[in-house]
Amino acid sequence: MTFYRKFSFFIIVTVIFTVAVYPQSFQKNKEYNDKKYFVSQQQKALDILHYDLSIDLNVDKKVVNGVAILIAVKDQSNYFNSDSEIELNFYDNMKIHYVKINSKPAEYSRRKNRIFIKETEVSLDTLKIEIEYSGAPQRGGFDGFVFGWVKGNSLVYNISEPDLASTFFPCDEDPSDKALLDIKITNDSQFVSVSNGNLIETKNSGNKKTYHYKTVYPISPYLIAVYSAPYKNFTDSYVSLDEKDTMQIYYYVLPEHFDNAKIDFAGHLDYMKTLSELFGEYPFIKEKYGIAEFLWNYGAMENQTITGFGYNFVSGNNFFEDTYVHELAHHWWGNSVGPKTWNDIWLSEGFAAYSEALYAEAKNGKEALKSKMLSKFSSNFNGTLYAPKDLFSETIYDKGAWVLHMLRNEIGDTDFFEALKSYHNIYKYSNASIDDFKTICENISRKDLTKFFDQWIYNGKENIYFIYSFEAESNEGMEEVTLYIDQKTRDYPEFHFNLDVEIFYKDGTSETKSFFINKIKNKFNFTTGRKVEAILPDPESKLLAEFDSEY
Ligand SMILES: [Zn+2]
Repeated sequence: MTFYRKFSFFIIVTVIFTVAVYPQSFQKNKEYNDKKYFVSQQQKALDILHYDLSIDLNVDKKVVNGVAILIAVKDQSNYFNSDSEIELNFYDNMKIHYVKINSKPAEYSRRKNRIFIKETEVSLDTLKIEIEYSGAPQRGGFDGFVFGWVKGNSLVYNISEPDLASTFFPCDEDPSDKALLDIKITNDSQFVSVSNGNLIETKNSGNKKTYHYKTVYPISPYLIAVYSAPYKNFTDSYVSLDEKDTMQIYYYVLPEHFDNAKIDFAGHLDYMKTLSELFGEYPFIKEKYGIAEFLWNYGAMENQTITGFGYNFVSGNNFFEDTYVHELAHHWWGNSVGPKTWNDIWLSEGFAAYSEALYAEAKNGKEALKSKMLSKFSSNFNGTLYAPKDLFSETIYDKGAWVLHMLRNEIGDTDFFEALKSYHNIYKYSNASIDDFKTICENISRKDLTKFFDQWIYNGKENIYFIYSFEAESNEGMEEVTLYIDQKTRDYPEFHFNLDVEIFYKDGTSETKSFFINKIKNKFNFTTGRKVEAILPDPESKLLAEFDSEY
C-alpha cells in the first residue's frame, strides 16, 4: 500500500471537494487494536483451500448479491471436536439466505461480525461450505468495498487491507490462510470487471456480463480485488528472464485517462525486469500483472496481480514512479511471501519501500540510492517495527527501508541479495515471520544477527544518536589520534554498529576508517603520518544515525 498523507490532503483541499477524512491513519491505529484478535483460535484450526465467489453487483442499489463456496480442511490435531463450530469472519449487516455444509443445510449463528456454523458431518475432513448472501457492504478502515461514482461513471472497487474482506464475502481474515480463488463478477454489460489471476471466461446474460477470473497461485483474502467500471485497457508483453514465459501487463483506466495513463504507466516493463533481476523472477508469471484505476484518494494498493491506483494520481506527468515500483515490489514482498501475522508487516511495507531505493540504484547508481534513503530519513520514528500500533505509519515504511539498508551494510551486498532471493524462494506463495527472515540472513551471512534485530526491529524504537570528538598529539613526526564516540540513548540500552569515519588531512587528502561501536563510551586510537584537519562520521549515510561534534 502507498499512502499519500500530505499529497492527498493537498488534493482534497485544492482540487476536488470531496468529503475529507484526512487522518485515516490515526483512526486506523485504533481500529486495528480493537480488532487485533479478529482471527480466533478456532479459525486457526480450519485451513481454507479454495474460494469460489460469485459477486453480483447492483450499482444502483449499491448492493452485492453473493454466493461463496469455500473448500476447507480441518486441522485434526488442533481444536476440532464433536461439538465444534466452524468460525468465519463475515459482517453482521450482510443478510444470509442459506448456509450449507457439504450440500446440506446447516444451522448457524452470528455475532461480532462472525458466523458460527454447526457441523453436521464431523467425520469428514474436507468441508464444502456454501453461503448465499446479499447486502450493502459496510464501509470501514481505509475504504472497504465501495460503490463509487466519478464524472457520471460508476466505479466499484475495494481496499480490504488489513481485515475488511469479510465486509463482502465470508472468509478467514488470517493473512496466512491463503487459498486458490475463482471469482465471477457480474455487472451491467457496459462495465468491465477486473480481479486477480487470469480471465478465463466472460458470459453475457441479458444486459448483464460476468467475468470469471481464476488464480494459479494462492491468495490472502485481504488481497482479493473487485473492480468494475467502464474501463478501457491497454497492455504490455513481458518476457520472463529465462525467456520461457510471456506474460501480459494490463492497464485498466477510465476513458478520460487513457492517454495520460499510457505516459504514466510506460515504465512497467522496465520495473518488472529490474525487480525480477534483483529478487528472482516475478512470482505470478503464469497469471498477469495489472493496474486498475480506482477511487481511493490516498494512493495505491497492491491487490494481487491487479494493483489499484488512485484516479487523482493519473496525470500524464509520471510523478509516481516510486509508487508503481512499490506496488509491484509488493508482489514479492507481501503478496508472494505474505506476513505470517500483522505483527510482521515490516516484511511487506519496509521491503516495498526499500525496493523503491533499490530500483533507483539499479537505474542511476549509488548516489541515487543515497538520495532516496536520505529522503526517507526522519528523527521522529516511533514504536517498534515488530507488532506496531499503527500498521501503516512512516516508521514501518521509511524506518523499515532504513533497517534493510543497514542490514545490507551489516552483512554485505553479496549476502544481502542472496538472502533476499533465498527468503523469497523458500517462502513464496506462503507466509513468513520476521524471525524466519532473520534465520535466513544468519544462515547466509554466518553472523549472529540477534542484536541487530533486537535494536532495530523487536525492541529498539529510536535512531542512533552520538556525540563525537577527536584529539591529535604530535610525536616524533607522527600523529597519535584519539577518537571519542559517546552514545546518547533514550530508552534503548546501547546500539552496536559499524561506524565509518572519514578523516580529512591538512594536506588535502582523506581516508575512511571503520570502527565497531559496542558501548556507550567508545575510544579508539590510531597513528598517522599526516596532520588531521577534521573528521566526519558515516560519510556515506549508511546508518539511521544522528550525531553532533564536540569540537
Ligand atoms: Zn505498500
